[in-house]
Amino acid sequence: MIKTEHLSKSYGGFMVLKDVSAHIQKGEVVSIIGPSGTGKSTFLRCINLLEIPSNGSIFIDNTPLLAKTTNVSQIRQKVGMVFQSFNLYSHLSVLENLTIGPIKLLGKSKAATESKALELLKLVGLAEKADSFPDELSGGQKQRVAIARCLAMDPEVLLFDEPTSALDPTMVSEVLAVIRGLAKAGMTMLIVTHEMEFARNISSRVFYMDEGIIYEEGTPQQIFENPQKEKTKAFINRIR
Ligand code: ATP
Ligand code: MG
Repeated sequence: MIKTEHLSKSYGGFMVLKDVSAHIQKGEVVSIIGPSGTGKSTFLRCINLLEIPSNGSIFIDNTPLLAKTTNVSQIRQKVGMVFQSFNLYSHLSVLENLTIGPIKLLGKSKAATESKALELLKLVGLAEKADSFPDELSGGQKQRVAIARCLAMDPEVLLFDEPTSALDPTMVSEVLAVIRGLAKAGMTMLIVTHEMEFARNISSRVFYMDEGIIYEEGTPQQIFENPQKEKTKAFINRIR
């Protein structure tokens, strides 16, 4: 579903991602953990072409993202991204936040898009907020709207970059519950998170990133209970 081969990204002379090769299968939930500044966000942003990689290849469903012939906007629609800071359109209602993409980018009809958007708001527990504006919502509610907005585009993969780290602790669980529901429904997801208990419970695999590489990967059991390599051990011990 997502494959990177020898993916690298430099800023100036500074190599942030170093030759990262990874393969995420359909239906897998992969959590990415690791210290600050090690390239976790950059990795996600490259997969979504929010950053242009310096080297290497990315395939989504076997389509090479960086090939000149690839229709990037079409591929982007397959890959939804949820940010730490929600990024909702503040001048649009909750419902319009969900419908603008499918109507403007996918050319869907207003009626069909609205009824699907209401279903998605129900799914994230916010049906009654359809006519509210983002400013009228709590952080947890905003993030659930952001997830519903991604789902409105019918993505095949969802990327999450620390979806709960801007939230008050009381609101973290409602957002994690939505993500957990998506995992149960078989959504392919790549999640950068500091919520270790969550990562341990939800993931099929965990990537431990350090200094621009996937330093160690394994099942949650392997990474959290029995890490093999020095830096992984030190990190896991630090967060225990
Ligand atoms: P955190 O856990 O703090 O979010 P991260 O693992 O997501 O960290 P990245 O945001 O991917 O780390 O950043 C990796 C490195 O790349 C950092 O040293 C950062 O300063 C650098 N970096 C990121 N974006 C840019 C940019 N646009 N220009 C220059 N350097 C950048
Ligand atoms: Mg980051």
